[in-house]
Amino acid sequence: MKKLIAGNWKMNGSLAANEALLTGIKSGLASVASPCDVAVCAPGIYLPQVRSLLSGSDVAWGAQDVSAHESGAYTGEISGAMLREFACRYALVGHSERRQYHGETDVVVAAKAQRALAFGVTPIVCVGESLTVVKRQLAAVIHAVGHCVSEVVVAYEPVWAIGTGRTATPAQAQEVHAVLRAQLAAACSRGSGPRILYGGSMNAANATELLAQPDIDGGLIGGAALKVPDFLSIIEAASAAR
Ligand code: PEP
Repeated sequence: MKKLIAGNWKMNGSLAANEALLTGIKSGLASVASPCDVAVCAPGIYLPQVRSLLSGSDVAWGAQDVSAHESGAYTGEISGAMLREFACRYALVGHSERRQYHGETDVVVAAKAQRALAFGVTPIVCVGESLTVVKRQLAAVIHAVGHCVSEVVVAYEPVWAIGTGRTATPAQAQEVHAVLRAQLAAACSRGSGPRILYGGSMNAANATELLAQPDIDGGLIGGAALKVPDFLSIIEAASAAR
């Protein structure tokens, strides 16, 4: 399975900065032999711009959240149908910043994953914290989506590693990924199961070692996804790791 490198821009960007970033990524990617899968998750307001800059390229795009509701009186939210209209392949759900600052519970995150799948958008389900918490967070999604869990992407992000410059060691990350892999395998009747990404201060210097771990299928990248050379270095590491 190809690795997936997904950038999470968080609340960063501008029309000019996005254009420069995506132009740089597209031209750099053209010289990577057999590139891994690549995606960027942009703030919702920029999705039309991102779509027009990336259409026809090898870079997919996605949102950073999706509403748990179908439509109606939910001021400020963006529905799965709207994401589909803008050809989003992915939507992050349950990022630790949403769980922490917006009070998203396991039940809400699971409903969001379900809603994304219903509209053909692949949820990148973020789980973090201790092993017990991570297993509980994933169990809620498995319970909600059943066998469709094979269609999600899971991102393990230790909360203490996000945006801090502190990374899990490859062995620590691999240990958690192996547990998640087993939990997912028990829920998926066929196929190799979902991809499991590592996230938390992945950068050009540590990507190769992290991506060499057998159960790390790619990365969810925050800060380093905003710099063309850094993001491209991670993409190169993931492409070579296959
Ligand atoms: C993230 O926001 O999902 C993330 C992993 O951020 P960073 O790479 O900056 O730690």
